[in-house]
Formats: sequence, structure tokens, C-alpha cells
Amino acid sequence: MKAALIESVGRVAVTTVPDPSPGPREVVVKVAACGLCGTDLHIREGEFAPSLPIVPGHEFAGEVVGTGREVTELAVGDRVAVDPSLYCHECRYCRSGHANLCDRWAAIGVSVAGGAAEYAVAPVANCVRLPDHVGLQDAALIEPLSCAIRGYDVMRSTLGARVLIYGSGTMGLMMLELAKRTGASGVDVVDLNPDRLATASTLGCSRTAAGAEELDRPEGWDVVIDATGNAAAIQDGLGRVAKAGTFLQFGVSDYATRVTIEPYKIYNREITITGSMAVLHSYERAADLFAAGLLDPAVFISDRVPLDDYPRALDQFAAGVGRKIVVVP
Ligand SMILES: [Zn+2]
Ligand SMILES: [Zn+2]
Repeated sequence: MKAALIESVGRVAVTTVPDPSPGPREVVVKVAACGLCGTDLHIREGEFAPSLPIVPGHEFAGEVVGTGREVTELAVGDRVAVDPSLYCHECRYCRSGHANLCDRWAAIGVSVAGGAAEYAVAPVANCVRLPDHVGLQDAALIEPLSCAIRGYDVMRSTLGARVLIYGSGTMGLMMLELAKRTGASGVDVVDLNPDRLATASTLGCSRTAAGAEELDRPEGWDVVIDATGNAAAIQDGLGRVAKAGTFLQFGVSDYATRVTIEPYKIYNREITITGSMAVLHSYERAADLFAAGLLDPAVFISDRVPLDDYPRALDQFAAGVGRKIVVVP
């Protein structure tokens, strides 16, 4: 079958790899579309993936075309979205309800072959059946949404919260949609890219700006979300958290990124600084919210490109052009 392959650091190709075959409790999914995200860029830079080469792609959905001999829950023809998380279920963190922090954490498209291919294998336990009205290509958005929901789970957000989001790429915009749904009294979005801010406005954020200093809220925001991973944005955001507020590190920084914190302020204002990592008990809810129309795919998916264009699409994503790019095998 045809697949994208991150061969070595900085080298991406589309090539032919052996067709996958399912283990006893796995299914083969004919991929309808697979989203690209920052994680794929990190893998290309030699971070995250335990070894290269790897077929990337952890944001995908499609149709079941093969089932392992012990699969009874799904059948050929079923339409599914795939939670890429692979937990060991044995370590201290798995056993204490923090499987996304598993000592042996792995994921489809990160540790084992993923969905940037014609076919992908997934454990039956990772598949969520989709209702007929959900477009299979559009369902590539469910995985990033499940990460955003995990972010919301971590925060101590309350009804009426004043929310500030750094970054209006796909993840920042998903955070905006969730903030609206969870009763924020206002959601401000900061980004240096005016085109991206325009989309945030379209989706109904309260205010947009190139920098938070333009927004004139000296008391700060109850919830500050970094969806950039960028040191300057994070540093600025840490200083914008209101008393009793929460800062969520949601964007993925490079390993080497450093910012400074002000311990006195954290103490004196009872500020919570937290992170959220990938998916935890949030994939099913993401699928439900997506089926309920939380996200408009026409807004969130800016580019649908053939799988052959994967290397170029990754370059486009790295350049910050567009929103969610999906490859269509
Ligand atoms: Zn992703
Ligand atoms: Zn584990």
C-alpha cells in the first residue's frame, strides 16, 4: 500500500510499504483522511517517536475493511474514528487513572505505523463507531478535539470564566469552541497572524489582538491557555493570569524551550499552572461532541490534499499556512 514515511530526521517521502494485517483484537481501517499536526513536525525533527522510520498520522478515521479473528464488536463496513493512544495498562500511571502518562506510552502514528497511509491497523478498543451523518474525512478532527477536551478537563474552569487563548490555529480555535460551550463570559484570542485571527472572530470570540497588552485587562484572565508552544507567548501568558486563575500549557514546545516564572505571584495569587498531554478518557466525548456539531469542518479543515502531497503538506503546516490540513489517501 501507499504510505507517507518519515524516513529519518528531516526526510519525508511517500512510498510503498507492506499491507498491514490485523492482530487478533485489531481491525484494518481504510483511511478516509488523516490530519497533520505539530506532533508530526516534532517527529520529523527527531523528537517524540522512539525510532525512525515511521508511518506518521494519529488523527484519522475510515472504514473497517478487515478484522482480527477475535473481533466481534466491529465488522467490515463499519465507519470508525480511531483513538491513537496505546497504553500498557500495567504501570503505576495506567493503574491510577493517568494512562496518558503511561511509563510505556505509545501511539498509533508516533510509535507504530499510523494513518497517513491507505490502510492502518488499530486495536478494536481504540475505535469509535460514527453515526452516518458524520463525514468520514471530517472525523479526522475528532482526535485533536479529544486533546482539547483533555485540556479542559485539567483546568479548573468555571461558568462565567474570562478566557484568554494564545494562538488561533486549529487547537486554539478548538479551545475557543469549547470555551463558548462551557459558559465562558468572554473569550479573547491573541495571534500574530491576522488571517488566523479573522477565523477566531468568525467563530465568535469576544476580542482579537496581536498582543494581550492591547486588550486592556490589568486584572488578568481566569483562564489563560497557551496553544502555541512559543516561548514569548507562554512568558506573556504566565503574567496574564488573574487571581485564583489557571494557566494551561496546551501547545507543544520544543524540548529546549525555557520561560521564567514568578514564584511570589503564584503563591500570592493562588495561580495554578498545569499541562495537559494528549488524550485521556476524552475520545468518546470528542466523537459525541463532533457528531453534535461542535466544530464546523468547513472552517476547521482548510486543505484536503492527496496522500502523495504529504511532504509538501507538512512544509505548508510548518509555515503556518491554513488551519487543519488533511491528507486523503
Ligand atoms: Zn495531533
Ligand atoms: Zn502504563
